[in-house]
Amino acid sequence: RFSARSEIAALKPYNSGLTLDDVAARAGGRRIAKLASNENPHGPNEATKKAMADAISRPFLYPDPSGRALVDEIAAQTGAEKSRIVLGDGSEDLLNVLARASLNAGDEVVTLFPSFPLHEDYAIMMGAEVTRIGLTSEFSIDTPALLKAAARPVRLILIANPMNPAGLWLTPKDLDALLDAQHPDSLLCLDEAYVEYAAGPDFASAATRLESHDKPLLILRTFSKAYGLAALRIGYGISNSDDVIRAMNLVRTPFNVNAVAQAAALAAMTRTDAMDQAVAHTLKERARMAETLTGMGLRVLPSKGNFLFVDCGQPSIEVADRLIDHGVVVKPWKQEGYETFIRVSVGLTWENDQFLEALSRVL
Ligand code: PMP
Repeated sequence: RFSARSEIAALKPYNSGLTLDDVAARAGGRRIAKLASNENPHGPNEATKKAMADAISRPFLYPDPSGRALVDEIAAQTGAEKSRIVLGDGSEDLLNVLARASLNAGDEVVTLFPSFPLHEDYAIMMGAEVTRIGLTSEFSIDTPALLKAAARPVRLILIANPMNPAGLWLTPKDLDALLDAQHPDSLLCLDEAYVEYAAGPDFASAATRLESHDKPLLILRTFSKAYGLAALRIGYGISNSDDVIRAMNLVRTPFNVNAVAQAAALAAMTRTDAMDQAVAHTLKERARMAETLTGMGLRVLPSKGNFLFVDCGQPSIEVADRLIDHGVVVKPWKQEGYETFIRVSVGLTWENDQFLEALSRVL
């Protein structure tokens, strides 16, 4: 009789298991507003679609295992050394690779809470212990608690900036304080999946500090969000540490990023006009949705992502379930203390309208 390792048995499934067909069956012929996974429904530009079509015409060849052309472009755009870039089959893959490359059983991992579940799950799979730094009672990042934890020699400090699901972010001042506080024996990983949405003087990517920082730093990025390539599964990591990248390259599967994804990511990075327009639309819609939701008397956390974290004041699993009957899919949050929150992605205008209308009906 099979039984999984004890660490695995303790995990919960990542997805709800509902398919779009399941949703359609309940949506009464309505169009479906899929606002549960922080995708960019504007999708990639034409040049990117053409690059994908070209790449798929040679399916018999293995992809370039080092993704050299894409790595060159990432180096040019981020300022990272080419030898300090690692590609992943989505940034999920990189989180998994990072955990396997760095964590021993019993090691400590510090995360912000509420957290992206995979930040915790991959650590738990390795038998590591997760220390959660919760939000303040005002729903802001508890920077003093974070700095205190970061000053201890922990194995890994793993933070999404902007945070998912909360949408909150470290100001440039807080980021610098965190970089200062970091213990030299700890690896600091900033997961910047939503960085393209986080414009403004009150945000700074850790990439701008990569060269000057003298302790191990890893930054993760993805093509699944603003670049509109979630189906292809591609992300990257950049670091100031040869040791971090060497370990991750040893752990990842040799051909972890397929050729279509490599070609699409390169094309998408080279021509960002469509992405910039989509991001501008998302930021405008995010502000409109936040205002409408606040007007409905709901607490909405400030967000620099392409999503909002909203307290519905009642069990969010039930709210999300009722929304499905209106053709709207959102993510009910399940982590302790946040069971009345939903995370809703900012979609196309009609999707956001359909969500706002449906929510006002089901609450
Ligand atoms: N990190 C964060 C913070 C995310 O929100 C997500 C996607 N939900 C990921 C990583 C994974 O993204 P992907 O694997 O599509 O690159």
